[in-house]
Amino acid sequence: MIALDGPSGTGKSTVARRLATALGAGYLDTGAMYRTVTLAVLRAEVDPGDAAAVGQVAEDVDLRISTDPVDQDVRLGDESVSAEIRGQAVTMAVSAVSAVPKVREVLRLRQWRIIEDVCAVQGGIVVEGRDIGTAIAPDAPLKVFLTASADARALRRANQDAAEGRRSTLEATRADVERRDGLDSSRAASPLQPADDAVWLDSTDLDIEGVLGRILDLVDE
Ligand code: C5P
Repeated sequence: MIALDGPSGTGKSTVARRLATALGAGYLDTGAMYRTVTLAVLRAEVDPGDAAAVGQVAEDVDLRISTDPVDQDVRLGDESVSAEIRGQAVTMAVSAVSAVPKVREVLRLRQWRIIEDVCAVQGGIVVEGRDIGTAIAPDAPLKVFLTASADARALRRANQDAAEGRRSTLEATRADVERRDGLDSSRAASPLQPADDAVWLDSTDLDIEGVLGRILDLVDE
């Protein structure tokens, strides 16, 4: 079990998927789960600030997520929502929805179940998010906290948006990354923070291969 945490734009998802593929392990993108609940909240026309109603949506949601690192898909019922959960509406609301304790409780239980199932079948899993080393898997043998400068993170997010056909400017992306990290770090329930025994890895001057190499070295230690 490898826990990979950090703010947005650090290259976490790409690194986590490549790592899982290299190790023959499963992969869980917990951010995609929070995004899918957020999409369900928006579709139900529930106010993201209404904790009771948001919590109820999280309890009722029919969320299905792939744990194959080379074939990622997230579904709401039978509908694939992998592209829609990356859009602006969900990105704007996801931090508010993620701050609701009931949402975190529901998703924590689902994440534990997925981790247990995948580990039983495949022997290992790479899990990425904001609270994996602190709340989901505090006993994970390897916890990595991935960071990068605000400029590098904004540039990566903007490049990712462009590659996936979403229109954005570097300024708007930087503002969004900073807004979301501020909210994620300051919420009361499981805020974004490194576990005490996490290994810090600054990816500002490293490419994906460089980050992957460092983590594979840690796996071998
Ligand atoms: O990783 P990604 O940017 O897709 O995550 C979207 C949002 O989901 C984060 O900004 C955060 O609010 C929330 N999240 C969380 N805990 C996690 C993973 C994501 O609160 N473990």
